[in-house]
Amino acid sequence: MQIKILGAHNTESRDSRLAGLLIDDILALDAGSLTSSLSFEEQLRLKAVLLSHHHYDHVRDLPALGMTLYLNSSSLDVYCLSDTIEALSACFFNGMICKDFTRQPEGKPVFRFIPVSPGVGLEVRGYHITPVNMPHSVPSAGYSITSPNGERLFYTGDTGAGFAGNIAHISPQLLIVEVTAPNRFTAFGHSNKHLSPMLLEAELSAYKKVAGCIPRVIAVHLHAPFEEELKEEMSQVASRLKANISPAHEGMVITL
Ligand SMILES: [Zn+2]
Ligand SMILES: [Zn+2]
Repeated sequence: MQIKILGAHNTESRDSRLAGLLIDDILALDAGSLTSSLSFEEQLRLKAVLLSHHHYDHVRDLPALGMTLYLNSSSLDVYCLSDTIEALSACFFNGMICKDFTRQPEGKPVFRFIPVSPGVGLEVRGYHITPVNMPHSVPSAGYSITSPNGERLFYTGDTGAGFAGNIAHISPQLLIVEVTAPNRFTAFGHSNKHLSPMLLEAELSAYKKVAGCIPRVIAVHLHAPFEEELKEEMSQVASRLKANISPAHEGMVITL
């Protein structure tokens, strides 16, 4: 399984892109950077998108992707919680700011939204996927993904503290986890349900108690202005836990 980091940040600039990962060129996790990172050919190669939740930085490129697909008579399956479908239908695909790609073209709409339920596994293009409830400020799903060859990763999407117990039994080889802000914002992270390195350390320690070891960890959703501080604090966590923790960057490729 090849995982490409399209967006490693929670704000966008010339040098940073919003949340998004690409698996084996066909499966996308979150849609904050799908059109800004992929060529038209790569966009048309996508077979499915899994959305963690409806916050802007995770869904922003869907209307632009919809237009690419629409103009090429193509369509795509989008998997997400029913709350996410409701929010996107109300705010994006209501016919006001872009075409309603969930209904157009008639008979073969661009986007087919498929609701997922936490704990209920599904097969998508040969990948076994299990959505897991994540503690965030709106309903949010993380995804356990097992490739046709048996490689396993877990992607948290946005999350606050308290998820380790929900995923330790999955034993992924790779954990792609959000770490948004440095330790001095831990109180902010607690109330807004995001992680700091300190909160990540507590989660990984709790995870290790159940699973016995800590998988390789890639941190995403970094707040770019504080990136150096975040990297320093995460390297201290890695050294205390004797764990392999790397900050993600746009264009990073991981092979399992
Ligand atoms: Zn969020
Ligand atoms: Zn976010």
